[in-house]
Amino acid sequence: MPKVASPEQLVVHELKDMYYAEKALTKVLPTLASEATDRELSKVFTHHLGETRDQVENLEQVFKNIGKRAEAQPCPGIEGIKEEHDHFMKENEPSDKMLDVFLTGAAARTEHYEIAAYTGLIALARTLGERDSVELLEENLRQEKEALKTVESISKRILKATGNGSSAKRSSAPRRSSTTKKRVAAR
Ligand code: FE
Ligand code: FE
Ligand code: ZN
Repeated sequence: MPKVASPEQLVVHELKDMYYAEKALTKVLPTLASEATDRELSKVFTHHLGETRDQVENLEQVFKNIGKRAEAQPCPGIEGIKEEHDHFMKENEPSDKMLDVFLTGAAARTEHYEIAAYTGLIALARTLGERDSVELLEENLRQEKEALKTVESISKRILKATGNGSSAKRSSAPRRSSTTKKRVAAR
């Protein structure tokens, strides 16, 4: 087992993990863009795909800066988030709107994961005095935070539109009453 006893060694592990994650996301984002029915959401995924490709390059540059070969190492975190998405899509028949809200949630989970990873990577790179790498990683972090904000606001917009509809329905519909219970009881 490789010994990891210094920030120099840990940063390499963390970089390989994110290199894997970002590369995986370049394959996932086109799928999300095609699944989204909301045009703005679809565009956000396509836009973030471009950013993600730049992020992969930034990571390659960071590997170079610290004198290591760019190498990916399976990231179970991103695989898990992907799996949750795949299961939901396979096992459910969401309406267009609920599908879009679901996709914003899957995206938000991904961005939170990436934000945590980059925050940790930046702290390590700073400890090592790798100023150029800190800047590259901060660029990636900024894009993840921006992407998170955007999907959160899209989700709010969609829910606001559907929320009004269903609360109107709720107030005009008779209360889900004891009659239901009585009917069941009478059987
Ligand atoms: Fe990313
Ligand atoms: Fe990971
Ligand atoms: Zn991202």
